[in-house]
Amino acid sequence: MCGIIGVISQTNVVDKLSAGLKRLEYRGYDSAGIAVVDQAGNICVRKCIGKIKDLQSLIKNDPLSGVIGIAHTRWATHGAPSSINAHPHVSNEQLAIVHNGIIENHAILRERLIKQGYEFCSETDTEVIAHLAHLNLTEKNDPVLAISDTVNVLEGAYAIGVIFKEYPDQIFAARHGSPLIIGIGDAEYFIASDIFALLPYTRKYIVLEDGDIAQINLGSGVTITDAANHKIERPVQMTDVYHDEADKTGFNHYMQKEIFQQPTAIKNTLAGNISDGDFNILDMDKRNIFSRMRAVHIVACGTSYHAGMVARYWFEKLAGIPCAVDIASEYRNFDFYVEPETLFVVISQSGETADTLSALQKAKTENYLSTLSICNAPDSSITRETELQMMTMAGVEIGVASTKAFTTQLLNLLTLCLAIAKVKRADLADIAQWMKQVHDIPAHMEVIL
Ligand code: GLU
Repeated sequence: MCGIIGVISQTNVVDKLSAGLKRLEYRGYDSAGIAVVDQAGNICVRKCIGKIKDLQSLIKNDPLSGVIGIAHTRWATHGAPSSINAHPHVSNEQLAIVHNGIIENHAILRERLIKQGYEFCSETDTEVIAHLAHLNLTEKNDPVLAISDTVNVLEGAYAIGVIFKEYPDQIFAARHGSPLIIGIGDAEYFIASDIFALLPYTRKYIVLEDGDIAQINLGSGVTITDAANHKIERPVQMTDVYHDEADKTGFNHYMQKEIFQQPTAIKNTLAGNISDGDFNILDMDKRNIFSRMRAVHIVACGTSYHAGMVARYWFEKLAGIPCAVDIASEYRNFDFYVEPETLFVVISQSGETADTLSALQKAKTENYLSTLSICNAPDSSITRETELQMMTMAGVEIGVASTKAFTTQLLNLLTLCLAIAKVKRADLADIAQWMKQVHDIPAHMEVIL
C-alpha cells in the first residue's frame, strides 16, 4: 500500500507535498518522490530510495518550487526499490505521473510503446502509463481524453495523479481499484490516497469512484468524468476525524495509543450494533436472508482473515451453520464450490483492500444468497458493493500491526453470529447470557490495560 498526494494552490506546494508524504508514511514504502511544474514551466522531479527525511534533505540541497505538484511513497511491485524506479515517472519532459496499484498488462503495452519509439528508464509497470498518456496527448491534444484513452487500455488497479507541462494550472486524477480522494481546501485542492494526509488543511473531500477521471483547477474547481464519459457530480463529504486524532497525543507510538483506545472502540462498535436490546443487522435484512441462509463463507486478507478464522468456531458452534474461511488472494483465483443459500462475508479495515475487493466482485457473479461487509470505512468501495454492512467504529488506525481494528472486527463477527443464532436457533437459550458478557468486554479491557 503506497501513498499519493497532490496539491494545486496559489503558493508553493512543495512543503505541503512533503508534509503529506510524512502523514502517509504509516502505509509503508521503500522510496518517495515529488514532481512540480516549476516557475519556468518545466516538469521538475526529486526522488530517492529511503525515508521521507532523505527526500526532504535532497530537496533542501536542490530546492524546487511550483504551485501544482504530485508526490508519492512507493511500495515496489514491479522493479526493485531504487531511485530510478521511484515515482513520479516522466514522459518526454511533458508530463509526470504517480501511481498506486498494479498494471497487469504492462509487458504487452511496454513492447508496443518501445516499437513506437518510447525509451523506458525504469522497470516499473507505471512507466507505461506515463508514455501512453504522452502518446495519447500528442494524438488528441486534450489532457482528459489523453488520460481516458490511456486508462481504457489498462488492466489491473490504479490510482493516478498527473501533471502536464502544457497545463500548468491543472492537476488530474483517475482511479480504478485503488483508493483516491479529492480534498477541498481554502483556495486550494488536493488529491490523496486517504483523508489523513490532508487533515491539517481540510476535512472536506470527494471520493472518486472506479472509472472516474478528475480535472482540477483553481478557477473552475473539480470536474469529474465517469467511466461512461459523462460529467458527474460526486458528493462532498466531511470527515469526522480531527487532525489530532491522527497524532500520537502523549503515547510513545501509534500502536500503543490504539491498544489503549480499544475499550472505547468496542463500546462504540457495540452501540452501532445493538439498539433497544436487539441486533441492528436484523433490521437491515429485508429479504429474510438470515432465516434462509445455510452457510457462511468469509473471505479476507491478513489480520481480517485471522478475525474470520476465530469467528469460524463461533458460527459453527453457536449459530450451528458451516463456515469456510479463505484468503482473498486465493479466492479470486479459484472456482470454489458455493453451497446453496450461503452468505458471503468480507472483512477489511480500509474497505479498499485490493484482493478482498476483487474477491467480492467475483463472489457477486456467483450464486451466493447475499454479501455482507465488516469495515472501518463507511464510504469505502467494499462497503458500497455489499448488500449488508456492519461497521467497526475503531476510528483511525495508523499502527500497521492491527489492534483495535482487529478486536472490533471480532466483536462484529460475534454479534453477527449471535444475531444469526437468534433467528435460526430458537432453542439457544443463552444468547442473553452471551450478550451480557459482550457488554462487559470494555470494562474488562480497561482493567487489563
Ligand atoms: N506498481 C507500481 C510500482 O511498482 C506502483 C507500486 C505502488 O503502488 O507503490 O512502481
